Amino acid sequence: MSEPLNQRPTRIVVDLDAVGGNLRAIRQRVGVPVMAIVKANAYGHGLVPVARHLVAQGAEQLGVAFVEEGEALRRAGITAPILVLGGILGRQVASLLRNDLEITVSSLDKLRQVEAAAEALGRKAVIHLKVDTGMERIGVHSYSCGPLIEAALASRWCQIKGIYSHLACADDPASPMTALQLERFSEACAHFDRLGAPMPIRHLANSGGVLHFPDTWLDMVRPGIILYGVLPDPDAHRTVELRPALSLISQVVYFKVVRAGHPVGYGATWAPPAGTRVVTVPIGYGDGYPRALSNNGEVLIRGRRRPIVGRLCMDQFMVDLGPDGTAYVEDDVVLIGSQGEETIRVEDVARRAGTIAYEILTRLNERVPREYPGVSQPG
Ligand SMILES: *Cc1c(COP(=O)(O)O)cnc(C)c1O
Repeated sequence: MSEPLNQRPTRIVVDLDAVGGNLRAIRQRVGVPVMAIVKANAYGHGLVPVARHLVAQGAEQLGVAFVEEGEALRRAGITAPILVLGGILGRQVASLLRNDLEITVSSLDKLRQVEAAAEALGRKAVIHLKVDTGMERIGVHSYSCGPLIEAALASRWCQIKGIYSHLACADDPASPMTALQLERFSEACAHFDRLGAPMPIRHLANSGGVLHFPDTWLDMVRPGIILYGVLPDPDAHRTVELRPALSLISQVVYFKVVRAGHPVGYGATWAPPAGTRVVTVPIGYGDGYPRALSNNGEVLIRGRRRPIVGRLCMDQFMVDLGPDGTAYVEDDVVLIGSQGEETIRVEDVARRAGTIAYEILTRLNERVPREYPGVSQPG
């Protein structure tokens, strides 16, 4: 079968050693088991190869957002425990059970749906109860979770493996919201003691919790973005030694000289004041590289920072080398990552594009092939 995209000069290079090192650094800090979050194609790094590596490096559990992500991991032969974090509909429960995926139960209604499907399949569901302590997203409010906990404990078809909540403001070390959420979560967990039931695995900390709030580590942590070596917020404290894992690299496909005053790109938004040299790079917003970088972004060519000029197109964009700049067709162009002495971090790209690093990483789509140097069978 032909693989038409693999000839592309544009690729994402993922350093799995960095991912493994970040996992070890996180574990060293928290000293509790890690549920490695690999939703959204492992934050753009490639779901299966990253998940496989994290499990091989000792991640106790994986977390994904959607049933389909869990199914993809099972199809790839990954047998580690997987929790589906997102809200689900009743019709999805059977596939969760068939794929041996752990289920988030966020209300009495959902519990009943899970029980019905589990009974129909004759297969016990492994569930994590989801308590809302301040997101107002999915989850039963901490102040009214008693009946759900009692019903789940009484259920013949559900085994309560965990209880969890999600932090809204943990990327800000100064926010008082986290202490409030922790207090509400502790009150929810206290129902188990009150009922004389064994405490399930309590998990609360996302990346911000791992970095800033030791009290939230409890029995397991759920880091996502820091596994990939990126801080959840540019002002987050670097309390864990992290190494970015993703580079985004393309190559020059065209070189030309542009005369003074001759505009570049759609809308003719930029023209050089004097004659200049311009190269074309074959990646655009159709790959998930943000169009907001039009006349705004930077790339590295021959170890130098160079500006993106004109509007970014769907599949390519232009870069100004200046009147004396040199570059040749096939030269590497680094959009995220290092070249020579220079580095462009995903956080820099996010700031210029007016968004967060999470969005830059997860929007890089399947048009861009992922490479895993040093791994022969990336899966
Ligand atoms: C995405 C997610 C995480 C990980 O968040 P990061 O900020 O990337 O660490 C943890 N828990 C839940 C429920 C999530 O949805």
